[in-house]
Order: sequence, then structure tokens, then C-alpha cells
Amino acid sequence: MPKPKAPSKAPRSLPPRLRPATPDFKAYADESPQGIIIHRNFKPLYVNAAFAELLGYPNLRAVMRLPLLRAVIPPDIWPRMESDYDELMHGSKKAFITRTRMVRTDGTEIWVTLTLRCIDWLGKPALMLTAFDISAQVEIEQHLLKNEQRQRAVLEILPYPILIIRRMGGQILFVNRKSCMLFQSGAHQLLRGNIEEFYLDPSDKEMLTKLFDSVPDVRDIEVRMRTAQGRVFTAEIAAIGVDYRNTPAILIALNDISQRKEMEAELFRQASTDALTGIINRRYFQNQAEQELRRARRFSRDMAVMMIDIDYFKKINDTRGHAVGDTILQGVVRRSVESLRQSDTMGRIGGEEFAVLLPETTLEAAYDVAERLRVHIEERPFIVEATPIACTVSIGVAHLEANDLGVEGLLHRADQALYRAKGTGRNRVETDRGASEKP
Ligand code: GH3
Ligand code: MG
Ligand code: MG
Repeated sequence: MPKPKAPSKAPRSLPPRLRPATPDFKAYADESPQGIIIHRNFKPLYVNAAFAELLGYPNLRAVMRLPLLRAVIPPDIWPRMESDYDELMHGSKKAFITRTRMVRTDGTEIWVTLTLRCIDWLGKPALMLTAFDISAQVEIEQHLLKNEQRQRAVLEILPYPILIIRRMGGQILFVNRKSCMLFQSGAHQLLRGNIEEFYLDPSDKEMLTKLFDSVPDVRDIEVRMRTAQGRVFTAEIAAIGVDYRNTPAILIALNDISQRKEMEAELFRQASTDALTGIINRRYFQNQAEQELRRARRFSRDMAVMMIDIDYFKKINDTRGHAVGDTILQGVVRRSVESLRQSDTMGRIGGEEFAVLLPETTLEAAYDVAERLRVHIEERPFIVEATPIACTVSIGVAHLEANDLGVEGLLHRADQALYRAKGTGRNRVETDRGASEKP
């Protein structure tokens, strides 16, 4: 094998730029921590200690003795090496960097970044390879890749819709199968889109963006969303900041809680409504009355209540039966509601006793409403099973006073007025001012 000639024997005719084996070059190459080998047609012309060590050769001679460099190149890479060689030796390109594998003496492979450069070696072109070991880096990369694949697999099998979006701008970066099902769309379409397209209310976008920016993880946020096919649902969102492929991202777990919301609403409706008449029950009426009282206090507004009791209802029950009594109860409620305003709230607070909240209403106005209601019930009999049944109500009206602490006192005064209406002949309206006449 030809050894690199001593620099002193380098032909003087070469321009300095191309003189390869100058003392400077040799000093640099011999000491270089990067493996350097120079070859022509894959026959070694020069090698440094770092290269020999990199590939596990005991000394420089062992490398120089190689008939061809084929031994250090994996078979699958060999054709590319040959075409790279031709390109550099005969083409226009003079150098390039590639990432490749090399074979060590023990048969194991290492990853290197390889700089290939066409140089002038003692007057003739040759190829210089500079190899930098990146095995550790590649191992970490592969480990990360495997980790990422494992994480994706975990997210994929979770029985919840999971999305990963870019923190800046909300572009969708990852979707699992369940989120495709939830959003009624394919993964490809979703990955081309942005989470913002799926918020029903544009203000939610702002709210969530602010939230994602200000807290590391977000839980139990309810957002109305719309699928690709237009189905609207309520999503409960939990989100956490993550790094996704070196991009600041947010992992979002979604839960379609529409059914739960509907059920909650239905349960609330059942818990607050009287089944027979469909108006609110005593407990919820009490709740509404407290709220209304607080509002009236806050804005210094009038507020009145009515207590309504059916006259001689027991007799209807006794003579016509309980079922007919029920129908009368429904009829009384219907006619009462017809007499009230949209803002008034009627509740059933006992068997045949009802109460009405009249916001922003003076005692005089409440009296007029009560009187209209009483007349509307009295004016014609209810027809039950083709039989007319006459029915009247007595009503007590009370107005919110400055010293009323809660609704108790107010309702009590209405009750007392009702008692007076009963005592003074029924089918009457009485107010808490105690007069039997219109106040
Ligand atoms: P007054 O004019 O003094 O109010 O006489 P009243 O008969 O209406 O009063 P009382 O309180 O004695 O009777 C109320 C009746 O209402 C007794 C009860 O059986 C009946 N009742 C209570 N709840 C219901 C119900 O849900 N359906 C029916 N059909 N009757 C009911
Ligand atoms: Mg009664
Ligand atoms: Mg009663």
C-alpha cells in the first residue's frame, strides 16, 4: 500500500491551495479527533489514528492494509458510496455531508456524519472522508422516537377523545381514534384543521386560549362544541401543557357530557316541578322567592306575593272523586297562568294552595292581578267528564316591606290575608293592609 509521502517530497509545482500533505495538513489530520481517511477508488492512501480507533482497528497499518474500503461500509450503503464517489470525482460538486453507518472490525455498526471532499493528493484527485461518531446521538433519537411511538400508542388506545394542539394558534397536531369518532371526521381532515373551528361560541376560544396560557393544567371546563357534521355537544375539557415534537403544545382530553347535562336538567326539572300541574313545587318556589326578594332589595323595587286557595275543594273531591279533583287543580292552574304576566311565577305550595311571585309590582297592581285571576276562575265552570263544575278561589295579597328580612314574613302576611278572605265569605281577594276593599 502506498503510504502518504513525506510532505517534503510533495511536488513543488502544485499550487499551495491544493498541496495536500503539507506539514500543516499532516499535523492537523494526525491529531484530529475526527476520523480521517483518504482514498482513491476505495484504496486507502492516508488514515489517521482517530479513524482507526473509531472503527476498532489496532493501528493505522491495519487500515492501510485493507485492499478496499468496502470492509468499513455496510453492504446496503455501498452502491450509494460508489455513486457519491463518482459524483465528487467527476461531477461538479466538490464536497458534501451525509449521515451514514460504518462497520467496525468486530462487525458492529456505528452511526457517523461523514464529510466527503474531493482533494488533491500529491497531484491526483482523491477523496477525503471525515467521520464524526454520532452513535450516541442516534441512539437517543431512536429512543425518543420509540418513546413517542409508545406515547402515541397509549393515547390511541385510551377510550377518551384526545387531541394535541399547538399552543400558539391551536393547530391540531394529534388526534386519537376516539376524537375522530367524537368530531365525526377522519384523522387526516382533523389534522389539517384547527381546534377553533369546533368551538360553537367564539368567546370560548378566547377564554380557553387565555386559560391555556395562564395555567399549566385545566380541568372541568365545559364548552359547547360542534362536530364536522354539525352535531352540537357539550364537552368537558381537561388540558395540560406538553411538548409535542419540540413544539409547545396542549394535550386536551374531551368528554362528551351532553347526555349527562340533559339528565341533570331533567332531574332538576323533576325535582323542581309539581308533577300534577307542571308548575314549580314548594321548595323551588321558596328558592325563587328568596332570589326575587334579594333582587328587589338590591334595586329597591316593589315586589308582591299572592296566596291562592281553592274554596270548598274538599267537597269537589268528596262528591266527584279524587281524579276529578285533580283535573280541577290542573284547570285552576291553567286559568291562573292565563291571568298572570310572563314575569310572574306560580308555584304549588300545598294540596290546593298556590303562591305567585309578582316582581316589580305594587300592592295595588298585585290586587288587580289577583282580582282578574279570581274572576277568570269564577266566570265559567270547569267541564269535567261533560259535567260543569263551578269553582272559586280565595286570594291573599302582600307587598314587600322595608322591615321584611326574608320571604317568611311576606308569605305569612299573604297567608293571613288569605285567611281573612276565607273568613269573610270566600271567592274574595284580601291584602295585607287588612282592608276587604281594593286598597
Ligand atoms: P276551604 O274553602 O276552607 O279552603 O275548604 P277546602 O275544602 O278547600 O279546604 P281543606 O283544606 O279542608 O281541603 C283541601 C282538600 O284538598 C283536602 C285534600 O283531600 C284535597 N287535596 C289536597 N291535595 C290534593 C290533590 O292533589 N288532588 C286532589 N284531588 N285533592 C287534593
Ligand atoms: Mg281550600
Ligand atoms: Mg287549603
